[in-house]
Amino acid sequence: MTVVDATGADSPLSLREGEQTLTGWGRTAPSAGIVRRVRTVDDIRAAISDAGPRGILARGLGRSYGDAAQSGGASILDLSAMNRIELDPATGTAHVGAGASLDSVMRALVPHGWFVPVTPGTRMVTVGGAIAADVHGKNHHRDGTFGSHVETMTLVDGRGEVHVVDRESSPEAFWATVGGMGLTGIVTQATFDLIPITSSRISVDTERTSSLDDVMDRMITGDDAYRYSVAWVDSVHPSGRGVLTRGDHASADQLAGKAAQAPLEFEPKVLATAPPIPTNGLVNPLTMRAFNEAWFRKAPKQRTGELQTIAEFFHPLDIVQDWNRVYGPSGFLQYQFAVPDSAGELVGRALAALRGVGALSALTVLKRFGAANPGPLSFPQPGWTLAVDVPAGVDGLGVVLDQLDDEVLAAGGRLYLAKDSRMSPAMMAATYPRLSEWQRHRDALDPQGVFTSDLARRLSL
Ligand SMILES: Cc1cc2nc3c(=O)[nH]c(=O)nc-3n(C[C@H](O)[C@H](O)[C@H](O)COP(=O)(O)OP(=O)(O)OC[C@H]3O[C@@H](n4cnc5c(N)ncnc54)[C@H](O)[C@@H]3O)c2cc1C
Repeated sequence: MTVVDATGADSPLSLREGEQTLTGWGRTAPSAGIVRRVRTVDDIRAAISDAGPRGILARGLGRSYGDAAQSGGASILDLSAMNRIELDPATGTAHVGAGASLDSVMRALVPHGWFVPVTPGTRMVTVGGAIAADVHGKNHHRDGTFGSHVETMTLVDGRGEVHVVDRESSPEAFWATVGGMGLTGIVTQATFDLIPITSSRISVDTERTSSLDDVMDRMITGDDAYRYSVAWVDSVHPSGRGVLTRGDHASADQLAGKAAQAPLEFEPKVLATAPPIPTNGLVNPLTMRAFNEAWFRKAPKQRTGELQTIAEFFHPLDIVQDWNRVYGPSGFLQYQFAVPDSAGELVGRALAALRGVGALSALTVLKRFGAANPGPLSFPQPGWTLAVDVPAGVDGLGVVLDQLDDEVLAAGGRLYLAKDSRMSPAMMAATYPRLSEWQRHRDALDPQGVFTSDLARRLSL
């Protein structure tokens, strides 16, 4: 193993000891817990034995949109100091502290020619958060979720006992923890496999699409030829036109000029910061229309082989720090569902229903999902996933989302727990039919119910 980053330095994004936690990424309702920084397994054990009636919860970088990383009145464990990163180039694996962010993993490993197996649309998530939500990326149709690439992880259970879990010797604990939203224990470290790369650039093909049917047809017929694929959909235009971007890691010999001299350079920058004072003025129907129109027009009609940086292709939102503030004090929510191919028309119906109440989204993302993994609470299933960010204060939004929940349920689909802030316990139980199986495994690991969250209470998990 090569230790590539062992600073143990606290993340600049982490909370201070004793500070009250922030609200969810998109949510408005505050829920305060007290942050307790842990640096060792013994610190975690001490937190477990001191746990009060509201229990404890691990928190990563708080990028879950709803209440998954919040627990009012609880002790919130910040693992940002547990961030050691080791690389084993012989096996192509990384051994990483659960508090390390994917940003720091990429900064440490990309220059050595390795990329993370799965990255969500932001690098500002921790390894612990990526496992607990079993995050997916633009390569789900090809590579599955993050949890599918974890070989082993270390878990401190509700009794303070330490387990090294893997899918062969402890499949129940492993798969209950992957997608288990922090409720089976505290993950302290994980070993996961990596993608070998010879450059830090992505070779990207971009196509403007004329309608939702057009983009969906192209994804069904063409996605298998690409490792990464994602479509942005114009939420304002009734046609559902959009921009499809697909790509794969470029090899070093595809690079020219300055990029060719440092093919594995990875130094993403934050180029702008959203205003520190929440403002109502930035997001309204007019700006949403203008944004969607401009985003569509800015994309080339068709371009192949454009070389983009990792940050440009995977994490465009990370370029604007605190972008979530642009929604102002009313906040926003994300609605993300997965449905089988047989219910693909629900994508268009959902967009039309949201448009009907003026719930316009700037970030409307459509992806194909491949096979599900054995995790009882893992979100992806084969078919489609649509994610929309909508301002929370729109009149009639709640009614539309409740109706969409019914349609998602009827279609055999489900909502993503890392994004959800509003579904009912009945919807949860009906759409995650293996919930009771997961609860059995969770109870075996945490018989006293030490680990809990606002999400767990809201959904009766
Ligand atoms: C801009 C943006 C884009 C996104 N794009 C995607 C995407 O493309 N795909 C996707 O899947 N998700 C996406 N997400 C959601 C995000 O990946 C998940 O919510 C992820 O879990 C956040 O990680 P975090 O470290 O911030 O965890 P938090 O939000 O802090 O916590 C999430 C859950 O993980 C648990 N947890 C955290 N650390 C540990 C630990 N050490 N042990 C046990 N449990 C732990 C928490 O208790 C909580 O239940 C996106 C979010 C944002 C803000």
